[in-house]
Amino acid sequence: MRRRKFIQRTGMAAIGVTMLQTGCTSKVDTEYLILGGGIAGLTLAYQLQKLNKDYVLYEGSGRLGGRLFTHKSLQNREVGGRGIGDKYVKLMEMVSELNVSLVDITDYMRSPTSIYYQQKLYKDWSSPNANPRMLEYILPNEGPSLSKLEGWYQSPELDIKYSDLLKQRGRTESEIDLINISANYNDVRETSALNSLHSAAFRKYNGSRRIFNFDGGSIRLIEAIKDKLNDQVYMNKMVDKIVDHGTHASVYTSDGENIKAKKVISTLPFTTLRNVELDINTNQNQKKAIEELNYTDITQIHLKPKYNFWEEDGFHIDMWTDTPLERIMNSSSYKDRVELVCWVNGKGTAFFDNMSDLEIESYTLNELKKIRPASEGNLEYIGTHNWGNYKYNLGAYAEFNVGQAALFEDMIRPAGNIHFAGEHTAKKSRGIEGAAESAHRVLNELV
Ligand SMILES: Cc1cc2nc3c(=O)[nH]c(=O)nc-3n(C[C@H](O)[C@H](O)[C@H](O)COP(=O)(O)OP(=O)(O)OC[C@H]3O[C@@H](n4cnc5c(N)ncnc54)[C@H](O)[C@@H]3O)c2cc1C
Repeated sequence: MRRRKFIQRTGMAAIGVTMLQTGCTSKVDTEYLILGGGIAGLTLAYQLQKLNKDYVLYEGSGRLGGRLFTHKSLQNREVGGRGIGDKYVKLMEMVSELNVSLVDITDYMRSPTSIYYQQKLYKDWSSPNANPRMLEYILPNEGPSLSKLEGWYQSPELDIKYSDLLKQRGRTESEIDLINISANYNDVRETSALNSLHSAAFRKYNGSRRIFNFDGGSIRLIEAIKDKLNDQVYMNKMVDKIVDHGTHASVYTSDGENIKAKKVISTLPFTTLRNVELDINTNQNQKKAIEELNYTDITQIHLKPKYNFWEEDGFHIDMWTDTPLERIMNSSSYKDRVELVCWVNGKGTAFFDNMSDLEIESYTLNELKKIRPASEGNLEYIGTHNWGNYKYNLGAYAEFNVGQAALFEDMIRPAGNIHFAGEHTAKKSRGIEGAAESAHRVLNELV
């Protein structure tokens, strides 16, 4: 019998895993232990499964998917990643192998168009150049760009504050203030210009022309992957300690269990990995990155229209505002359905952090009543998801502050028997494709 129970502490063994011999005398429970059941961990598990390798996956929360999250208690709203491009090669390979249905949203992708600025609602600002939602994208002066995706982190001359790049490109301080309301960063005066240049390079060189969502939600992809995996996928296994013994590594979880593996692959965001006790041989830059890598905060307030009030007041349903609600968007994947969300980024999220659900509901509906009187009584509050406080992520995605890109090459190196994957470790792509790409990189490191 290869399979047997492992019990590393007194009490019941929760699971049964394979006992294997390491190169030396010690026995391990599995060859590869994957930490984190987001798309990076699941992609790696799927690839190891295809190669018929021995692996175990530990996920800390009670569900798989991580930042691909069809949120049951928020009426199945998507609160995480959802937009995938036709050139998301690694991701699309799985989507097609698993026969997961997609919805093409390219033709009706929306960006906020009504503008609420200094207590006045505009249908749209006539000149795109003076329109606050375009200030970040239509810039007066030419500026630097990355000539390729590979090595985006190797351009120290461009590792300046994003606000300095915006200034070079002709934006004034007050325009930068407006950009800062809804730019996809914590603070454009702290974040590196490389984040924005990398995003632009990804749009250009990844070259996706069509954008898709998962039909029925990202949960469809997660379930399809899960169905192909072995039975060694465990939820509620919150990792709190990793020890590298040289010949193998041990991982301890908050339920008091531990498991030994020849190789451990951490896909944990550095925000949560920094709360794990690490007795492993990290290099200096890696240690610094684990401790300090910056992550963007995002809070989403989900609303359901009871009536098409935008048809009454004639303004576009999507809005950019200079209020704490920032952007209000229709996030539906389907043409015939409206799913409203107030999307708050970066430091603006602090405004809602200490509010109760009831307070957020009351604030949001009142504020919207002021902005759009026609919305009064016509919106139902569904709930809020706060990525900065969500304990399994503590942030929406990695955002390199000035100086942090210089840590990148070292931070993704294997530290002894511990390997690192996850969106924050992607060498080329971003987002979901970046997470899948990182899983393939680690697969090459392992087998
Ligand atoms: C609001 C939002 C919108 C986005 N939109 C897009 C988009 O449109 N397109 C796109 O391409 N990308 C988008 N992204 C990014 C994309 O969702 C992520 O890059 C990707 O899902 C990350 O996958 P991952 O596997 O690296 O990390 P995760 O999905 O975060 O997986 C890590 C897993 O580790 C688990 N974990 C954490 N700590 C522990 C621990 N101590 N022990 C055990 N398990 C632990 C977590 O529960 C999680 O399941 C978006 C992200 C957010 C938040």
